[in-house]
Amino acid sequence: MATQIQMPELRYGLSDLAPVISEETLNYHYGKHLQTYVNQLNTLIEATEYEDMVLADIIREAPAGPLFNNAGQVFNHAMYFEQFAAPVKEGEENLPTGALEEAIYASFGDFETFRQLMSDAALKLFGSGWAWLVQTENGSLKIEQYPNADNPLKHDQVPLLCIDVWEHAYYLDYQNRRAEYIQKIWNIIDWEIVAARMSVR
Ligand code: MN
Repeated sequence: MATQIQMPELRYGLSDLAPVISEETLNYHYGKHLQTYVNQLNTLIEATEYEDMVLADIIREAPAGPLFNNAGQVFNHAMYFEQFAAPVKEGEENLPTGALEEAIYASFGDFETFRQLMSDAALKLFGSGWAWLVQTENGSLKIEQYPNADNPLKHDQVPLLCIDVWEHAYYLDYQNRRAEYIQKIWNIIDWEIVAARMSVR
């Protein structure tokens, strides 16, 4: 039997992201929503040409429809849950450093401009989907809005940072207040993880 697509392991405890993301939200979002995408993907690839592919190749090869949607959502959520750490203390800054900081300044002018643009992209995305910071083929950084399960791999971009704005990501903690969820999420970004995703050219 082929290797199945696995659940990504969390790098923190289920209560460690509170109050930005509660244990209850992680129980549903990681434990139920993501588990369901993983289970559905494994069912869809079983005994097909996709069975032995790595996830990124399934995403690149899959036609639009259930296979792409489940593969995309497994990938997107793996990126999302990997990029977090316990919230910084009240009044402390949480900022990128090194090559990532330089790339953000080169592409957006300064960090605050970038943070505002990415927050707006997440806030204004209509319906379900994801806001992304991506690295393009020429190495510059760009913000994208992709609906539903769509993601940067399908557009030949390197995915660096994502904000899930499907309602299941924030409804238990923030109800309809998507803006507040987006504002708080900056306190739990692990910038070293994000920087490690950059492609070196
Ligand atoms: Mn989600």
